[in-house]
Amino acid sequence: MDKFELQQLRDLPIEGVAERLGLRVKMHKSLCPFHDDHHASLSFSVRRNGYRCFVCGASGGTIDLVMKYLSKGFLDACRWLADEHNVILTEYQPQSSDLCQQTSFDAKRYEHFFERPWLSPEARQFLFEERRIDARVVRWCRLTSWKDKQGVAWLQIPYYDREGKLIGVQNRNLVKGALPRFRFPIGSQCSIYNLPILNRLRPGDELYITEGCSDCWAMLSAGHKAIAIPSATLLKHNDVELLQTLASTLSLTFHMFPDRDEPGERLFLQLQKILPDLVHHQLPPGCKDFSEYYLSTSAPI
Ligand SMILES: [Zn+2]
Repeated sequence: MDKFELQQLRDLPIEGVAERLGLRVKMHKSLCPFHDDHHASLSFSVRRNGYRCFVCGASGGTIDLVMKYLSKGFLDACRWLADEHNVILTEYQPQSSDLCQQTSFDAKRYEHFFERPWLSPEARQFLFEERRIDARVVRWCRLTSWKDKQGVAWLQIPYYDREGKLIGVQNRNLVKGALPRFRFPIGSQCSIYNLPILNRLRPGDELYITEGCSDCWAMLSAGHKAIAIPSATLLKHNDVELLQTLASTLSLTFHMFPDRDEPGERLFLQLQKILPDLVHHQLPPGCKDFSEYYLSTSAPI
């Protein structure tokens, strides 16, 4: 692959690439697949041929979008793009080191944060007072907190695989209304949340599928076993495979309280295709998601 070919890939129309990936682009916007989005926060710039999310800060060009969306390395993303758009690449010569970027997650750098979790007053307020999350759930999820150089308080959310290996970190801004709302270290794989719970399931158990971490904590606090899909926007290929494996290897019943909005119902329908017996639970009027429902049913502390 030479510079000219690379430029061809960078010049592929960004909105076309997004649609090829399965995003629904309307008026140069779509729901952002990198956070739990309900308001089409991802904007496309035809002039810069790039995308930017004003909520989670995800941004880049055609190649970045494919890398991030399909969890591919730089070269594989280039190959995918070339393949989808009939661009012919000469075989890649790995001597040009300027094409190499760090894309894998450096777990060693983050692991120790979660060994001794610490909750700042802002994090305690967010978890215990605003959301009434059970302290046992906070310990199980190893939630911790930190302050950046500017003094902004963040909640740090670890993602583990089924074997308990740290595979990603999601930082959530604890300052109300502040942007970006989320930050992810390079290479973080924040797809399905709370995978270690799978080792605690027994045949016949009910497993709830929620949208995003906060609903998952609420569901766990309500005494249910739960995992979370990161975003209602779109299920990634890997997530679909994992759910299919779960459905075929564990005898579980799957349950869901879809958010009371269009992305919520769309996620339910998408999941139902993978898990045909998925049980739909209706949230009562006035509760847009399970967190709100949980708050309305749990007594104040
Ligand atoms: Zn986003």
